[in-house]
Amino acid sequence: MKETDSSPSAKRKETRRKYWQSEKGKESRKRYLQSDKGKEAQRKSVRQHLDGWKKIILEKAICPGCGKVIFFNSKVRDNTIAFDHRKDGSEVIKGTPAKWLYCHLATPENIEIWESCDFGMLCHKCNRSLPTNNRVEWLQNMLKYATNKAG
Ligand SMILES: [Zn+2]
Repeated sequence: MKETDSSPSAKRKETRRKYWQSEKGKESRKRYLQSDKGKEAQRKSVRQHLDGWKKIILEKAICPGCGKVIFFNSKVRDNTIAFDHRKDGSEVIKGTPAKWLYCHLATPENIEIWESCDFGMLCHKCNRSLPTNNRVEWLQNMLKYATNKAG
């Protein structure tokens, strides 16, 4: 049987929701997240999320830009896979894809969202060099620029 909104547990849930949205609740949450206990809980949550994604995402790849071997969630930023928006920023997941993975479980729905984005995998250095929007035009201009022997 489905709970109606007037059931005691729904009321408790609503009270909790209101509390977390209040200034007092927000302050309390902020204090918790900055505490050792809160930080450990966040680390644990990220680890759990990533463990699920490790079954979906390639463990290692080769950067198509520079040929470097890169790893999923490597401890060293220099050889960690940077997920690249290669559909001109039209992907459902905006911002930093890795951060999205940290706070989303690998559920069938989320896997579908992730796969629909079809992110490329680059090293951080190549990813930084490549603009998200109008990249083909930018690359053509840069190629022209780089191969133009003046004089
Ligand atoms: Zn690279």
